[in-house]
This record gives sequence, structure tokens and C-alpha cells, in this order.
Amino acid sequence: MSKQSKRREALLYHAKPRPGKIQVVPTKKYATQRDLSLAYSPGVAEPCLEIEKDVNNVYKYTNKGNLVAVISNGTAVLGLGNIGPEASKPVMEGKGLLFKIFADIDVFDIEVNTENIDDFVLAVKSIAPTFGGINLEDIKAPEAFEIERRLKAELNIPVMHDDQHGTAIISAAALINALEIAEKKIEEVRIVISGAGAAAVSCTRLYKAFGAKAENIVMLDSKGVIRMDREGLSEEKAEFATSRKIDSLIEAMKDADVFVGLSIADIVTPKMLKAMANDPIVFAMANPDPEIDYDLAVKTRSDIIMATGRSDHPNQVNNVLGFPFIFRGALDVRATKINEEMKMAAVKALAALAKEPVPEQVNIAYGETRLNFGKEYIIPKPFDPRLIAAVPPAVAKAAMESGVATEPISDWNKYRDELYE
Ligand code: NAP
Ligand code: MG
Repeated sequence: MSKQSKRREALLYHAKPRPGKIQVVPTKKYATQRDLSLAYSPGVAEPCLEIEKDVNNVYKYTNKGNLVAVISNGTAVLGLGNIGPEASKPVMEGKGLLFKIFADIDVFDIEVNTENIDDFVLAVKSIAPTFGGINLEDIKAPEAFEIERRLKAELNIPVMHDDQHGTAIISAAALINALEIAEKKIEEVRIVISGAGAAAVSCTRLYKAFGAKAENIVMLDSKGVIRMDREGLSEEKAEFATSRKIDSLIEAMKDADVFVGLSIADIVTPKMLKAMANDPIVFAMANPDPEIDYDLAVKTRSDIIMATGRSDHPNQVNNVLGFPFIFRGALDVRATKINEEMKMAAVKALAALAKEPVPEQVNIAYGETRLNFGKEYIIPKPFDPRLIAAVPPAVAKAAMESGVATEPISDWNKYRDELYE
């Protein structure tokens, strides 16, 4: 299909038969006068009073517990940059669609017209009573770090900036499995991170939580290697600065075991790949065009284990493997936050699922004949129906064990059955 007809198809999809991708649907009967007197006045006053007595009753009588706000100010939308709140709305509606189809979570997408941190935090805090969770989306760094930090501290519902943690969780699962295939240990591998933005920082933090060693990590930004002796480093960049006296990506790539790209297209050359250690792991995740083209990379190194952000190659690092299921688990135990333990549990559940035999319907959905754990299948596919039973229980359990679940689950079999409904 030509670029022009792809564009037309996308616009038509959004415009017809009715504009947008989501709508609100009633969940109670509304056929008779009696139904309406229950749905609204006078019947509606009863749950209002119950909630007034005990605010936790809001979970019993309203949709709060299954409702997530997907909130953006449109400052870092996809790879499109700061395109404004209205222009971000298709993305936020799309996220609502994904939450619904993969985890049956309802979403209100909220586009906020401010780039000011205080105003944004105030806006989200003010509307938080409506929601069971907050998914921050497409907000530019470094503002996104502070916004998330403050909202997590000040709200008692789960808050997650998906651009940071979604990518971190999925790529960490992929990394754990790739290392297993390459027969390498995370504590020993030399890791190059290209990019020092929202995604790169939170990915690297999570890899460290799984055992990656600070002294084995070299991070680069648009100015080159982030060294300890560089002046004017932000707090986040300083966290990953290296003591090695190197300046360029090619120097960093020499004997590296892992390359993680969360920067821009086409900055990795075949020469750099050839300088890497045996069985190199290359996650080139710049969107839409990776740090090195998939086919070029695979042609250059036959021993490579490669992942990208794209759906047209094996091993797509796709956030949709994470956020619907992480919020599902968090909401189902009424967690007060999404903490490190819950993220790590999601990583382990995703990594483990990739090693299970793949059901036939997944092969069919992707036009494959035999997906099998290995170099070209290191993470599950989004349309894998087992995700809903694998990830939310792991997240919910981790919430309980780490003490942030206010409604613990006791009957896990019943819970799993409900997830499949
Ligand atoms: P961001 O916050 O804007 O960060 C971009 C980073 O890339 C900045 O640190 C920037 O350096 C750095 N950079 C720019 N040119 C570079 C170069 N030549 N060499 C090394 N670093 C360079 O953006 P983000 O949200 O982290 O996303 C970064 C990229 O990852 C985007 O392409 C995005 O689409 C992709 N991504 C993919 C996935 C996925 O596949 N699932 C998920 C998230 C993000 P400065 O700090 O010096 O400006
Ligand atoms: Mg995003």
C-alpha cells in the first residue's frame, strides 16, 4: 500500500462511521420509568449517602474501581513531539481502546492544556476522585519525571507514566530472555544505552533492579557519552554517568554484550555491530525507525538477538503487553500504587510466558506456523489470550506482598476464571 493510501485509510478509520474510537455505554437497565428513577433521582441519592458515610463505598456503587484516566498534555506524542493537547487525543483514545479490549478497563482520555508542572499536577489531583488509576502519557522529559513523582506521592491510587515504565517492563522481560538464550548473566554483561530520555532512564533503572551493574553501563545522549566529568548533567543523567574515558558510540560498542536504543534512527552502523561481543543483544527501539535497520543488522551479525519497536519484525517491544494487565492487577486488589515489586512481577510473568508453548490461535493471528521460544520469539505477542491470566495475578500478588493492596485476593482460581470472562 502506498504511503498516501495508508494515510487515507488511517484518517477514514478515525472519521467514520462516527468520529473517534470510543464511546460511553450504560451498564444498567434504562428501559422504564422505574429504571430511570433508580439510575437517577431519587434512587441515586442512596449510594450518594452511603459514599458520604464511607468514601470507600465509591468502589461499591460507582465505576471508579474499573476506570483509568489516560492523561496527556501533548508535549511528547509518539515520535511527533510537542503537538498540543488536541492533537494528542487520537493517541489517548487509542490507549482507551487497548485498555478495554485487552483488560476490560474503562478509560476516560483527558487532554490538559498546560505545560506547567504545578498546573498539570493540580489538574490531575483535582480530578483523581473520579478514577481508580492514572496513566500518564506522552509528557515530555524532564517534566514527566517530576509530574509522576509528585502524583505518586500525593495520590493513593495507582499512577504510572507508561512511556517510562511500560517500555522498561517489556524490554526488561525481553532482555532477561535474550540473556538466557545467549547464556550470559545480567550481572556481567556490558550494556550500552543510546538515549537518556524518559524511556532510557527508566529502562536502565529497571535493568539495574534486575542485577545489571552500574560499572558495566555506558549511556549516551545527543552530545555523546555521559561521563562523570561532564558539566551540567541533570540529576537523571548523573545517575548513569560512566567513569570510563570514552567519547563515542563506536568506542562504547566495543565488546558490548547489549545495545539498547531509545534515541533516534540510524545511528548504529554495521561496523559498530561487528565490534560487539558474541551473541550480541540489540534492542533498537527508536520509533518509527530503529537505531539500525532490522534487516541490515541481521545480515551483519548472524548471531544477533534483535528487537525493535516495530510490528513488522520479530520481537516487537510493545507497551500494550504491559499497561492493560498491570493496571488490571493493580485495580483488582485496589492497590494504592504501582511500585517496583509490581513492575518486576510483571517482567517475570511476561518473560516466563514467552517460554511456554504457543497456542495455535496466536500462530494464526500472526500468520506464523510455529512460534517458539528462541532468538526470534523472546517476548509474548499482544494477541496472546494467556496474557490476561498470566500478568494481572502476578502484579496483584506482588501488590499484596509489598503491602500496597487494600483489597487482597484470597481465591486465586476464582480470580483467574473472572479474568478470562
Ligand atoms: P526523549 O525523552 O525525548 O529522549 C530522547 C533521548 O534521545 C534524549 O536523551 C536525547 O538526548 C537522545 N538522543 C538524541 N539524539 C541522539 C543521538 N544521536 N545519540 C544518542 N542519543 C540521542 O524520548 P523518549 O520518550 O525517551 O523516547 C526515545 C525514543 O525511544 C523515541 O524514538 C521513541 O519513539 C522510542 N521509544 C520506543 C518505545 C518502544 O519501542 N516500545 C517506547 C518508548 C520510546 P538529549 O538528552 O541530549 O536531548
Ligand atoms: Mg506513549
